[in-house]
Amino acid sequence: MAEVKELRDGYGRRLNYLRISVTDRCNYRCLYCMPSEGVKCLSHAEILRYEDIKFLCRVFRGLGVEKFRFTGGEPLVRRGLVSFMKELREEMPDVKMAMTTNASLLGSCARELAEARIDSLNVSLDTLDAEKFAKVTRVGSIDAVFEGISAAKAAGIKNIKLNAVLIRGFNDGEVPALLSFARREGLLLRLIEFMPLQESIWKKDAFIVGRDLLAALPEGAAWEKSGRCGGSDGPAEYYVNRKTGDKIGIIAAVSNHFCKSCNRLRVSAEGKLRTCLFNPQETPLKEVIRRRDERLLREVIVAAAAEKPRCWDVVNNGDIKMSGIGG
Ligand code: SF4
Repeated sequence: MAEVKELRDGYGRRLNYLRISVTDRCNYRCLYCMPSEGVKCLSHAEILRYEDIKFLCRVFRGLGVEKFRFTGGEPLVRRGLVSFMKELREEMPDVKMAMTTNASLLGSCARELAEARIDSLNVSLDTLDAEKFAKVTRVGSIDAVFEGISAAKAAGIKNIKLNAVLIRGFNDGEVPALLSFARREGLLLRLIEFMPLQESIWKKDAFIVGRDLLAALPEGAAWEKSGRCGGSDGPAEYYVNRKTGDKIGIIAAVSNHFCKSCNRLRVSAEGKLRTCLFNPQETPLKEVIRRRDERLLREVIVAAAAEKPRCWDVVNNGDIKMSGIGG
């Protein structure tokens, strides 16, 4: 078989972005992410070790993947992640490295993350109201998040995005506050449609469609489209406010899906490859990774990538646990 230099699926989409969940654990118990009794956590033996992840990254790099995003659960609850990222950076100085985090643990590791030359951080924060925050996370304190963001900025991490999932009746009145917070802190706010991943949690009444998110922005008429950052930068549509210069991203993950330009693959904490967020079909990679059989691993990945579904509407089974696959 001729050496494959870049991954393509059966529809010709180039797949150059890999999201790696490093843990299924989280220090929060968010209402819309986990059931109240929590979820059964994987044991250490079940999840990929750092050497496994490094080998996996090498193989994906060889297949043309240019961006790795570390997710969870909450990735920073896994001990040693930041040192691992530094090692990976030394080996791969030119890849993009990103992380999605709730920021609550950033305070103690932001400096080291900056040393790893992390390219971007996505901070998930849906409300600025301390009481609501405590209620929705069941255990979290919003001050830790604010401290984490400040530490990241102080360490010199530049590209920090604030991701807020908008839910009717919960935080839809907070858009102006989120916008001014983002402006004050120098973050890029992105509003995200509430995805129907778990039927038990997602409610139709709570769903706000992307165009309504846009219409509800303060000074509605002043917002102008400034393009879509496709490629490895994600699926947001960006808008700029003519008067204030504020920028905002809208991720209409449900109403205006970005499948046509989807470039992403996901690997779960236990080493299962998922070619589409909504497709329950997974390809287990752990055993092949542990054999360190590079040729076989490439073959398995190339074959799985070729089967990536065209779009979510053909595969959605409506019951995906976000905590286990890192969003
Ligand atoms: S639904 Fe699947 S194919 Fe569509 S953008 Fe999401 S991950 Fe990609």
